[in-house]
Amino acid sequence: MGAKTFPWVFTQVPWAAGPQWTRGVHDGLPLLSFGCAPRDKLATYRQLRAMDLRPNGQDPVAVLYGRHNESGKTWFASLYLIANAAPVRPMTPAKHTALAKANLARRICRSCGKDPLYVLPTSTRQCWKCFEDTEDQGQQAA
Ligand SMILES: [Zn+2]
Repeated sequence: MGAKTFPWVFTQVPWAAGPQWTRGVHDGLPLLSFGCAPRDKLATYRQLRAMDLRPNGQDPVAVLYGRHNESGKTWFASLYLIANAAPVRPMTPAKHTALAKANLARRICRSCGKDPLYVLPTSTRQCWKCFEDTEDQGQQAA
């Protein structure tokens, strides 16, 4: 009912070697409908952020559109190449050190404070001996 529709257009796109189906052109960029955009190659800014990525200065390569069910209004969102995105927080040597420390901390049993020389289960953070002790206590309490 008066809703704007977009015709299918088979065209060259930046994210694939061969031509792909699009919904025409919007602001000079290929237009894709919600659901037909390749989610492994293209992402909106929000989707990038959800993956701890940022556009990294690149221009959007396509426009995604969808329709709000309630208002019936069409919305548009810029799509970026995931391949050209960069991590939000770049790895620095200091972070590597922090990560190594965190990995070491992960091996220290939170009950006896010893390093059992294997990575502890994240659910318990205990070595097997302490875990078994805790289990026994739990059974006594039950
Ligand atoms: Zn322990």
